[in-house]
Amino acid sequence: MNIIFLGPPGAGKGTQSRFLEKKYGIVQISTGDMLRAEVACNSDIGKQAKALMDSGKLVSDDLIIAMIKNRIAQKDCQKGFILDGFPRTEAQAEALDRLLVSEGKTIDAVLFLNVDEDILADRISGRFTCVQCGKIYNDISNPPRVDGVCDACGGHEFQRRADDKRETVVERLKEYRRSTAPILPFYEKKGCLYTVNGMLPADEVTAEIEAFLKK
Ligand code: AMP
Repeated sequence: MNIIFLGPPGAGKGTQSRFLEKKYGIVQISTGDMLRAEVACNSDIGKQAKALMDSGKLVSDDLIIAMIKNRIAQKDCQKGFILDGFPRTEAQAEALDRLLVSEGKTIDAVLFLNVDEDILADRISGRFTCVQCGKIYNDISNPPRVDGVCDACGGHEFQRRADDKRETVVERLKEYRRSTAPILPFYEKKGCLYTVNGMLPADEVTAEIEAFLKK
């Protein structure tokens, strides 16, 4: 099963992808995570991407498309994958179509997590993750059960993304509106876009996605 998650930053794409990854044994491909790994090891790609990411701008289509092409060809993607954070522009959506045709693959569902923009800034700026297992938390809506201890793995170290600061979030939302929202009609026309109310609690969003995928 191959799935695309669309939605603004903070809509819950990462949280829901992690659930689907476990449930269906398919891999999450997060272009943001891949870029952060490149930045962390100071690679050429990381050096090109860092300033853009820090300012909330999108990285070039060519770079991202090349990254996805390599990633999808890897063995662990054969059973299926979840695209989280890609495509983000019309050029990326079109390149993905061509790539899938050449690989003989198709997309089974495009899930759009719809969330009102006015709640996103609070959601994103309160977000933090466990360093050890990557579980995502929020200061207000989803803190760990025991303060400072990860519910999932017992880890004690947490981190916040540099681009989750309020100033950068404003720019990321602008980029979403300008470049990413316009690709929704592209998938709507293909008849494979399913809109989920991303403002429900995470487990209700999960249940809605599960029910849809069972159909
Ligand atoms: P994310 O973790 O998906 O919010 O991505 C973090 C940052 O990585 C974005 O603000 C962009 O700077 C960059 N990025 C991630 N995915 C893409 C993409 N598909 N196209 C362009 N830039 C991306």
